[in-house]
Amino acid sequence: MSKDCVFCKIIRREIPGSIVYEDNDVLAFLDISPTAPGHTLVIPKEHHETFLGTPRRLMHNVLDVAQRIGQVQIKTLKAQGVNILINNYPPAGQSVPHFHVHVIPRYGKTDGLKIAMVEHLDGDLNFPVVVEKIKSGL
Ligand code: 5GP
Ligand code: ZN
Repeated sequence: MSKDCVFCKIIRREIPGSIVYEDNDVLAFLDISPTAPGHTLVIPKEHHETFLGTPRRLMHNVLDVAQRIGQVQIKTLKAQGVNILINNYPPAGQSVPHFHVHVIPRYGKTDGLKIAMVEHLDGDLNFPVVVEKIKSGL
């Protein structure tokens, strides 16, 4: 638990949250600024800053709930697609430093989510070198 963390406050019921799921390890609630109806955040109840630093068992439990919510968005909310998004650290767009998974339904029309992958030819693009670096770090 972190005293000033907004998501820990939702877990402790110090601020309201539209909670859709809860168990011993995991909480899921609607994003306060949804990009589409049903935009849900799934978090571990234990405070960890990022996905990258969350213990494996807890991370698996969070992703399990995220998968189930995505299935419900397709089946019950009649979404046509779902984006699963995890931002790690502010340069990647993380604004709340408590690991959370965005489960975002897509309805096949314009909404508030804009994702663009554009090839960017900057930095070390020597593929064999990059492959070796990643492999040696695993
Ligand atoms: P991030 O940018 O860190 O990946 O996403 C944080 C998300 O948390 C944002 O989409 C934002 O709308 C949501 N958020 C921030 N504060 C609150 C809050 O107090 N309650 C809820 N339900 N969502 C919040
Ligand atoms: Zn927290």
